[in-house]
Amino acid sequence: MKNNLPTRRERVLGPRMTTFYREPVEIVRGEGVRLWDAAGREYLDAYNNVPHVGHGHPRVVEAIAAQAATLNTHTRYLHEGIVDYAERLTATLGDGLDVLTMVCTGSEANDIALRMAWAATGKTGLIGTDATYHGNTHLVSQFSAGRTPIGGRVDWVRRVPAPDSLRPVGGSVEGQAEAFAAEVARAIDELEAAGHGFAALILDPFFANEGFPDLPPGFLAPTQDVVRAAGGLIIADEVQPGFGRTGGHFWGHERIGLTPDIVTMGKPMGNGYPVAGVVTRAEIVEAFRRDFGYFNTFAGTPVAAAAASAVLDVIADEGLQARAAEVGGHLLAGLRALDHARIADVRGAGLFLGVEFTEPGGLAPAPEFTAEVVERMRERGVLVHRIGRGGNILKIRPPMVFSRADAERLGTVLAGVLEGMD
Ligand code: PMP
Repeated sequence: MKNNLPTRRERVLGPRMTTFYREPVEIVRGEGVRLWDAAGREYLDAYNNVPHVGHGHPRVVEAIAAQAATLNTHTRYLHEGIVDYAERLTATLGDGLDVLTMVCTGSEANDIALRMAWAATGKTGLIGTDATYHGNTHLVSQFSAGRTPIGGRVDWVRRVPAPDSLRPVGGSVEGQAEAFAAEVARAIDELEAAGHGFAALILDPFFANEGFPDLPPGFLAPTQDVVRAAGGLIIADEVQPGFGRTGGHFWGHERIGLTPDIVTMGKPMGNGYPVAGVVTRAEIVEAFRRDFGYFNTFAGTPVAAAAASAVLDVIADEGLQARAAEVGGHLLAGLRALDHARIADVRGAGLFLGVEFTEPGGLAPAPEFTAEVVERMRERGVLVHRIGRGGNILKIRPPMVFSRADAERLGTVLAGVLEGMD
C-alpha cells in the first residue's frame, strides 16, 4: 500500500484501531452502491447503511453545500430548517411521538433517551438484551455485549436473553414471545427488589446487533404489556432498521407491532452527515429538560437539517422503501436457493438480510467459516460483514439504491465463494 498507510495510521491513531478485512481496504471514492479503492478497483458495497440513499447522492451533497455556504449556526437561533424537518420527521411517527431532539450520534440519542426515561419515571432501573450494542457513552455502554465495563455492570442495568431464530428463548419458537416477556418481568422484579425501580426497556425492534432473528408481528406484545403494567417506558432504537430499510414499513417498531414511548435514530438519517435524533412525547421532553437541561453545539444545525431533509426527499422521490422491499425480496429468494451444508438459516427483511452459518448438521456457530466467507467475498469485489452473538451471521445491508443486478452479482459471488469451502 502506498505511503505506508497502515503503519502511519497505527502510529498516529494508536493501537487497536480496528479495520475491516485481513488486507484493509483503502477506499477513496463512492457513488451509489459502488466504492473504489486507491488502486482504482471497484467494489459493490453490500454493507454500509449510513449512505442510505447512496454514496455521494448529488441531492444530499448539494443540500449540504448550499446550506453550508449560506449559514451554519446552532439551535439557539431561530431557523426554519430544523422546524420544517422536525415537522416532516414526526409526521412519519404516530402515537403522540411528536417532539424531536436532534443530536449527532446514535450513542447520544440513546444516552438521552435513557435519561429521559429516568426523568419521566423518577426511577433508574434499565433493561436491554444480552447480545446488543446501543452506543459508546458511559451510560449506554453498560448495555454493550462485547465488553464488561470496568468495575462490572452497574446494578441498575439488567440484561435479558436476546431472541434467537435457531435457539429460541424458553426453548421453543412458538413460546419465545411469552418466554422473552417473562424474562423482562423477572428483570423488572429484580430491579424493584433492589430498590432501583424500573424506568425503561431499550431494544432495537429488529434486533439488528443480536442477529435479526425472524420474529412474527406481535412478538413484543406480551413484553409491552409487562413493561406498561410496571410503569416503565419502551425505547425503540431505530438506528439500524429505521428510514424504510426493512421494506414493508418505515420504522422497525411498526413492522413488529410495538408502540414505543421514545424512538432513537441515527446512522442513515443524514446519509453520512452526522445527524441523529430522539423523538418522544412533549411531557417526557419536559421532564428531561427540567432535570438535565440539554444543549448540543453541533446538533440540529441548519446544515444538519438540510442533509436530513434531503434524505427524506430522496427516499420519497426515488421510492426507496418500496425498492428495498422489491430488491430485498429478490435477493432473499436468491440467498434461499443457495445450497451449502453450513447454511443453517437465511432471513431478514427488505435490504437487511443475513445468512447464518453453523457447523454442519448442528447449531454450533461457525464464526471462522463466516469470517472466511467475508474475506473471500471482498477478494471478489463484494463488501459484506458479519454479526450476531456468535459472529456467524453474514450481514447484508447495502445502500437502498441497490438494484436487482447488484443483488444478482452478490448472489453469484457468494455462491462462487461457498462452492470452494466446506
Ligand atoms: N444503536 C444501534 C442499534 C447501533 O447499531 C449503533 C451503532 N452500530 C448505535 C446505536 C450507536 O450509533 P453511533 O455509532 O452513531 O453512536
